[in-house]
Parts: sequence; structure tokens; C-alpha cells
Amino acid sequence: MPMISESKINEIRESADIVDIIKNYIPLELKGKNYFGVCPFHQDHSPSMSVSKEKQMYKCFSCGAAGNVFTFVSNYENITFIEAVVKVAGILGISVGDYTTTKPKEKYEREYNAMDLALKFYQNTLSTKDGGAAREYLLKRGLNEEMQKVFDIGLSTTSDKLYPFLKQKGMDEKFILDLGLITQEEGSIKDTFKDRILFPIHDAKGHAVGFTGRVYKGDYKPKYLNSKENYIFKKGNILFNYHRARDAIRTKKEVVIVEGNMDAIRMYVSGIKNTIALMGVSLTKEQIDLIRNLHATVILMLDNDEAGRTATLTNGEALESAGINCKVVRLSGEKDPDEYILKNGVQQMITNIAHAKSYLEFKIKALKDNKDLTDATVLSSYIKSVLKSISDEDAITKEVTINKLVEDYKLDKDLLNNELKKLATNNNVNVKVVARGSLKKKINKEEISARSIIYYMMNDYKYIKMYQTNLGYFKSANYRGMANEILYYMTKNKTMNFADFMSYVAVSPLKEEFETVIRDTKIEDFSDSTFLDYILNIKESRIKGSIKECKKIIKDSSDILEQEKEMQKIITLKSELEKIIEERSVKK
Ligand SMILES: [Zn+2]
Repeated sequence: MPMISESKINEIRESADIVDIIKNYIPLELKGKNYFGVCPFHQDHSPSMSVSKEKQMYKCFSCGAAGNVFTFVSNYENITFIEAVVKVAGILGISVGDYTTTKPKEKYEREYNAMDLALKFYQNTLSTKDGGAAREYLLKRGLNEEMQKVFDIGLSTTSDKLYPFLKQKGMDEKFILDLGLITQEEGSIKDTFKDRILFPIHDAKGHAVGFTGRVYKGDYKPKYLNSKENYIFKKGNILFNYHRARDAIRTKKEVVIVEGNMDAIRMYVSGIKNTIALMGVSLTKEQIDLIRNLHATVILMLDNDEAGRTATLTNGEALESAGINCKVVRLSGEKDPDEYILKNGVQQMITNIAHAKSYLEFKIKALKDNKDLTDATVLSSYIKSVLKSISDEDAITKEVTINKLVEDYKLDKDLLNNELKKLATNNNVNVKVVARGSLKKKINKEEISARSIIYYMMNDYKYIKMYQTNLGYFKSANYRGMANEILYYMTKNKTMNFADFMSYVAVSPLKEEFETVIRDTKIEDFSDSTFLDYILNIKESRIKGSIKECKKIIKDSSDILEQEKEMQKIITLKSELEKIIEERSVKK
């Protein structure tokens, strides 16, 4: 299959107007020379993202997200860079034919391969004679052969055959042990999963990283056994079925979150494919980030018990405060979505989803569960917590909720409004404190200068020349690598175009380094004089570093001649430092 060439990628980018493409995703408004919109990459309500028609790039002044048309589509849709190129080409009606791309080698490629081999081994076991009872069990639970394949379901037997199989593929004991596929018991090696139906767990990119094994015959404990955590399997970074559900979630702009893997599978099999499952009781920060990337409304549908109710509150709270719109479905009767669908049918489930309540409504109701509101103190604390819950909401929600409180508890409306106003002021104070606390670690002058130089170079050919003439190299491997990448690009393309360079960077090994520079550099106007200041800063810290090194040698050495040599060096270096100071004063 042919690859999409760099020139083809550039051709597609040139045919695309970034403003038109981004408008497919978020509303943009023209203000002066640039377009502005609400940035989809951080939680915001004001339009902090600017899109430049002239430069064909976007930049968010709040979170620093920046790039060209492909990086926008790639980040918004959570797809790879090449997939984004194909998508944009599709919108423009440009044919890219069959394409392939050189995939960058993944960090844990060996581990992913091993897990994949194990998965296929187990899948194969399920299809053999030994798998008869398990297949029957799955069929009875409504998982036909097609769905068994969709979920890569497998089977482990008691025969301890996985270990020799993997060993024969060249993997050593320690490696397989670390992946949790085998365990060491009293000196001998055994397969971890025995006599269990295995449901693979995938990460967000679709790599199999672990298994849940379910007992299907006999009475082994525990009923469910999960892979132990390791460097590729971290429950807190994973949501079950995420990679499979993503397309359906994008189409529906809605994601249903359930508690158990079996719930997610049942929903999927029943046609409600936009379902993912928690990997524990409460969502971690990483999982919330994954959910935010879906740009969808969340419908929390956790188990119908007290634990599920509490988890709905904690997770709903976490999602809402991360700026994710959240609704709630509480099932009645059956324990979980799996049982519910089996008993009541999928149509009833769809109706429940359509009638999901807003999280706020659920919370206000939950706040008074098991409370005796005839007791004045209890009632007063309840009213206060309701007011607190709505203090961040819009005016209409506030008005509707307050009217309901007035009606239900015969309270004075002005009093409630006043209390609410007080809360709003307190909240603002809190927000500011949090923001200050979370400020990023300060970077030093040298770092800022280096980043700015790289940023300038990415934007204009002129600054690449100035870098070559005035600085030539960076001492830090990180910036030297980036500068070399720019020079290489420059030599190859004979020009510097920021938007095209972004495409180049997107598939470069230094992608993350460049992204950090773009994100953290806030430069609006380019000035030669400022650029030269940055150069001087780098030179200055370079010289200071060398002086330090000389001083260290003098201190550590007992050889007078060597010490003398270093002294001479320091004198030369100091005069260079003088020159820099002079240059600075001339500039001013
Ligand atoms: Zn942003």
C-alpha cells in the first residue's frame, strides 16, 4: 500500500481552510483579523481560541493548545494524525487512495504483542473441543459467536498451557510474570487464569492490556478475577470498551457509563453501543480526561444499590466539576443494566436513557434521601446544600430550583436569593485560590529563551538564519534536537511554513517536545530585537556554565599547570560575558 507522502499532506492542508473545517466542530466568530471560539481542549465558556486564516493555525490563549487543521481534527476526534489527514481529505473530496503510514514504534510494543498472543491463545482454546461447555454458557447468556469475536472472548483451562506457549515464542519467565499472565506458586509456574471465561480489557488505543476471568462452571472463588496491574495495565487509566464505543459515542454525542464489564457488553450486544464501564468505583483524573475527549454528554447508569447511588454522586460531582455535562439513570427492580435488559428488554432500556435526569436534579433529590426534613436543623442544612449545588448554574436553573424550594417548604424567595448571592461570592474566592495553587512550576530564563528561539524558528525562515549566524547550537540535547529537526526540515523544503511544519512534527519523535514549546510560548508579535535578546540569554548561561565547570576542575585538581590553564579559560570566558553585557546595553 502506498504511503501518504509529505507533499500530499501539504497539498491537502493547502486546499483546506482551517476556519471552515474548525467551524464543523465549534462555532467561530470573526473579530478583527482572526476568528475566535470556545476552546474544546480545556474547560471554558469564553472564546479563548483564536484561529488565523492567514497562518492556517489555531492557538488557545488559555490552555496553549495550538496547531494546524490536522492536529485540530486529530485532537478533537481523538484519532491519529494520519486518520485526521484522511478525514480532512474526505471533507474536501480529495482522494488519498489506499494508504498506509509508517507507524512509530510503540514504547511497550513487546508487552502488547505478548498480550495479543495470550488473547489469541485463549480465543483459540474457546473454539476447541475443550471449549464446549464455555461456548454453551456464553450462548445462554446471549453472547453468540459473532459477539464472542467482537469482544475477543477466550477461555483458560486447567492445563497450564499458556506458559509453555509463550516461552516457545521466545519470552522469558520474568517478562510473563510481570504481565501477570503466570504466577509462581511454591516454586512452580502456573497460568494465572484457570477454568475461566476471559474477557480482554483494552486501553484507549485498543491494545489488549489485561483480562477479567469469570467462573462458568463449579464454584471457584472469586467469581471474577482480574489481571494484576503492571506498566501497561493500570486500571485508573482505562475504561472498559472505550475504544469500541468511541464511534457510536461520537455519532450520538452521548456516552452511557455502567459499572460492570458484563453491563457494557450486554448494552453493546443489545445495540446500545455507546457504553463504557468503570474499572472501579470512582473515576480517576485520567479517566475523566478520557471522557472529556469524547465531547459527549455522560449518562451515569450505575448499579441499583446503595453503593451505586453513592458512586453516582461522587462520579457525577467529579464529572460536573470537570465541566462535563452529566445525566443520571437509576434503574428500578433489577440489580444492574445486564439483568435489567434480560428481564425488561432493550426497548425499556432505551426509554430509560431518553428520560435520563440531569445530574443536578438527581443530586437535589439524593440530598434529602434518608433525611427527616420535618426537623428544622436538618431542613435548614438541606436547603443550604441545595443552594450550594446550584450556585454555579445558569440563571434559569437557579430561578426554577428556588421557586421549587419556595413552593415545597414555604420559604421566602428573597431570603433564598440573598443566600445564593453570598455563596456565589465565596465560590469565586475559592476558585481563585485553586487556580493559584495549580500554577505550573516556574521555568527559568534560559528555558524560556530556548523555547522562544525554537518557536520563532518554527514561524519564520529569517529566524532560522539568525539562529545559525548568532548561536549555532544549544547545549541542552532537548533544544538541540528540536533545532536540528527545524534545520533538517528547512534544508529539505527550502522554506518554513508553520502550518506544514506542524504536520511534519505530528509524526516526528520529538512531537511532545515541540508541543510543549508551542503550548507554553505566548508570543504574538515577532521582533528581531527580542529574538536577539533570547540568543544573548542562552549565550550568557552557556558561558556561566563553562565558568562553573572550570572552577570545579580547579577545585578538584591538584595539578598546578592544569589549574593555571583553567584560570586562563575563565578570564577569556569572563571577557566574553562582558561583551554580552555590552551588546545588551548597546541594544538599549
Ligand atoms: Zn484551550
